[in-house]
This record gives sequence, C-alpha cells and structure tokens, in this order.
Amino acid sequence: MPNPQSEKYDSCEIVERRDFADDLWAIRLRPPAPFSFRPGQYATLGIELDGRVLERPYSIVSAPEEPLLEFFIERIPGGALTPHLFALGEGSPVLMRKRPKGLFMRHGLAPGRTHLFVATVTGVAPFASMLRHMQMAVEPAGPPPRVALLQGASLSREFGYADEMSILKSRCSWFEYVPTVSRPWADPGWEGETGRVEDILRKYSDRFEVAPGLGTVYLCGHPGMIATARAVMTRRGLQEAEVIEEQYWPEGKEPTGAV
Ligand SMILES: Cc1cc2nc3c(=O)[nH]c(=O)nc-3n(C[C@H](O)[C@H](O)[C@H](O)COP(=O)(O)OP(=O)(O)OC[C@H]3O[C@@H](n4cnc5c(N)ncnc54)[C@H](O)[C@@H]3O)c2cc1C
Repeated sequence: MPNPQSEKYDSCEIVERRDFADDLWAIRLRPPAPFSFRPGQYATLGIELDGRVLERPYSIVSAPEEPLLEFFIERIPGGALTPHLFALGEGSPVLMRKRPKGLFMRHGLAPGRTHLFVATVTGVAPFASMLRHMQMAVEPAGPPPRVALLQGASLSREFGYADEMSILKSRCSWFEYVPTVSRPWADPGWEGETGRVEDILRKYSDRFEVAPGLGTVYLCGHPGMIATARAVMTRRGLQEAEVIEEQYWPEGKEPTGAV
C-alpha cells in the first residue's frame, strides 16, 4: 500500500542553519530529487505532528540554479508551525511538498522597465531568489533590467540578507538597495534610512523613476504594508497591473495558537 505522505512530500535534510535574531533564521535544505521552480515561487514545508502533517508556505530564497533550497523564517509566538521548525537543527528532516507553487513573479522582469521590490523582513525571500538568478543566469547574457529593493524592519538585525544585498549593490550598476529601520531609537548603531518602508516608498519611487508605464512595483510580506504601499503607488498613477503583491497572511488574522 503506497504511503500517501511519501507521494505528496519529500523528506529534506537541513544541511545548514544561520540565526540572525532570536526569532529569525535561515535554513538550507537538500531535496532528495531535483526540485525545479521559478524565482518568486514558494515551497510548502511541514512536520508530522500527531499523525498529521502541519504545513505552511515559505518563499524560496535560493535561485533555481542552486543545488540547495534556502528559506528565511520568522518564529511566530503562539504560531502552530514555526516554534516546531525553530527547534530543528542541522541534520533534522523537514517535509516538503514535491511541487513548488506561486505566481508572484511569473512574468519575469520586463526589459526597459524599473522594478521596485518592497519587502518587510522575511518578504525579502522571493526577491533574493530573483536577484541571485539575475546574477547567475541573466547578467552573463546581457545587461539586466534595473531593480531597486526597499526592505523594512523594526531593527537592523532583522534584515538577514543585508550583507548580500549591499555587496550586490556595490558591484552591479543595475541594482539599488535601501534598508530602512522603523525603530531607530532602539538601534543606536543604525545610520541608514529610517521609517516604515511604505513611508519612504514615494520618495524612492521618484528617485528610481518608477513612474506609470515605466515601472513595476512588487510588494511582499506584511498585509498592512501591502495595503498602504498599493495606495501610495496608485496615487502615484501606477495601474493595478503595475503593482504586484504576495501577502504572507490575511490582515487581522491572529496566530492559531496550537503550541
Ligand atoms: C505565499 C507565502 C509565502 C510565505 N513565505 C514566508 C517566508 O518566506 N518566511 C516566513 O517566515 N513566512 C512566510 N509565510 C508565512 C508562513 O506561511 C506562516 O504563516 C508563518 O510562518 C506562521 O506560521 P505558524 O504556523 O507559526 O503561525 P499560525 O498559527 O499559522 O499563525 C499565522 C498568523 O501569525 C501571524 N504571522 C504569520 N507570519 C508572520 C510574520 N512574518 N510576521 C508577523 N506575524 C506573522 C499572522 O497573524 C498570521 O495570521 C508565507 C506565507 C505565504 C502565504
């Protein structure tokens, strides 16, 4: 009798774990078979608990060209799954649905436009995947389209991929990176931009010439940021199709509190 779980899921080993803050960490998984996906897609990760699989979607950080699958995860107090995932170290298995999902960046990045990526904390994941893919597969064939990434967090230690993005900015003329901290009074060493990412959006969309007909804005993460940022860009004159979003949870929904 086939095991229905092994038909749906692969068991993947955590081969690397990096912790950025008390509640933010990244893992790299080794899939047992090739797992093809497009930048911007997500995988469904889970664990078996009381005979059932508890699963959630997670955007893939790694590029399709990389052999390991990378994820950037926030532990949610009272969340059903993330406290269990957080307890897993290198060598532990995680279940992953065999197929990726998601349509977030399905059209790729059109040449001749400026693409403005806007993320709250772990919402940087699909953008990191796209940017790695652009370096590995797009840039060698010719100049990529212009991209700017605005990433918001309460404190600078929550950025996770800031070093990678800063290095990319220093070597690629087609890329701009602006991290912004919304609680600078609690982050005395921070010298960069301050305020919520949606509050600095208008300023940077002007600076990077993300204008109607010329730019596309991609919003990922917190539902409140997405609603405000969409309104800002609509007032700027962008059409609905020029603002694309991936919301990580529905506005107003609390953790399910199974732990
Ligand atoms: C397409 C997609 C991609 C996603 N990618 C990622 C990812 O790359 N990394 C990641 O950490 N999460 C990601 N998420 C969120 C993830 O699927 C879970 O919702 C999250 O990990 C919480 O799971 P949980 O079972 O612990 O909490 P649950 O018990 O399911 O509680 C969910 C509730 O927790 C709160 N919550 C969930 N996520 C956050 C958050 N990041 N910050 C603050 N509050 C939150 C909200 O109130 C939400 O309604 C993604 C969601 C979607 C829909």
